[in-house]
Amino acid sequence: MSFNDNVQIDSGRIEDRRGGGGRGGMVAGGGVSILGLILALIFGPGVFDQGSGTSTQSSSSGQAQSTANASCTTGAAANQDDVCRLTATTQSLDAFWSQELPAHNAKFRKPKMVTFSGATSSGCGRATAQTGPFYCPTDETAYVDTAFYKQFTSQFGGSSGPLAQIYIVAHEYGHHVQNILGDLEKSQNDRQGATSGAVRTELQADCYAGLYIGHAATTKDPKTGQTYLKPITEAQVRDALAAAASVGDDHIQQTAQGQVNQDSWTHGSSAQRQAWFLQGYKSQDMTQCNTFNARDLNNPGS
Ligand SMILES: [Zn+2]
Repeated sequence: MSFNDNVQIDSGRIEDRRGGGGRGGMVAGGGVSILGLILALIFGPGVFDQGSGTSTQSSSSGQAQSTANASCTTGAAANQDDVCRLTATTQSLDAFWSQELPAHNAKFRKPKMVTFSGATSSGCGRATAQTGPFYCPTDETAYVDTAFYKQFTSQFGGSSGPLAQIYIVAHEYGHHVQNILGDLEKSQNDRQGATSGAVRTELQADCYAGLYIGHAATTKDPKTGQTYLKPITEAQVRDALAAAASVGDDHIQQTAQGQVNQDSWTHGSSAQRQAWFLQGYKSQDMTQCNTFNARDLNNPGS
């Protein structure tokens, strides 16, 4: 999946903390345990220990801030560079959800998007490269260290291809949508287990990612009227599905421990993550992403 070369990208859409957040003293609250993290894709137990699902928009840091790569101004640049692709993806997600949510009687607001390297502070505590991408509801910000993409490939056997990257970002953005709708907190009181609120929350974020990707080739840049993305190929969809499968709880547990324990699942199985991604992708209907009402999480639509 690639962006149309001529689409206009606003490099200021994301906050670039690379090279700034890892230095001593710049990380406010360094060493504080991570509260409130909604981890993107990976780490299992304990990740839903957020103290809040609230929507306050606090500023999270006094860090040096800079604008992401100034040369990131076109779709062509986004096709070449991971951070520029993150920027373009965020912008096209804005375009999609700013239309989709009002159609479902919800008021849209943009999340903040931060990229960092090493470590950084967030409204949910300190994050490091090992944390993986996550969304923090306290400051309504998604944090993505693009270096994670390569780690993702080597550690989990996922793909770091362009659509896999877009899937990761769209999943985090899905948590923001859940935060707007008041669904994110459903993960809080029911944090693990095969049919837990946590798993349902994660699978819904996968469904929202599929929904966005399914729409992406028809979502237009409001300024130019051009679609952000070129049509998606079957191979690219397989790429995203491989990414989803690689972060299934069963796959991660099997790889790390040699056995699978459903009682500690937080994100759902590989097959479930793929199934819900496809549910959003194929249905093109947000209401079909209601994981909370699904009787059988292996069977979207049940
Ligand atoms: Zn997630």
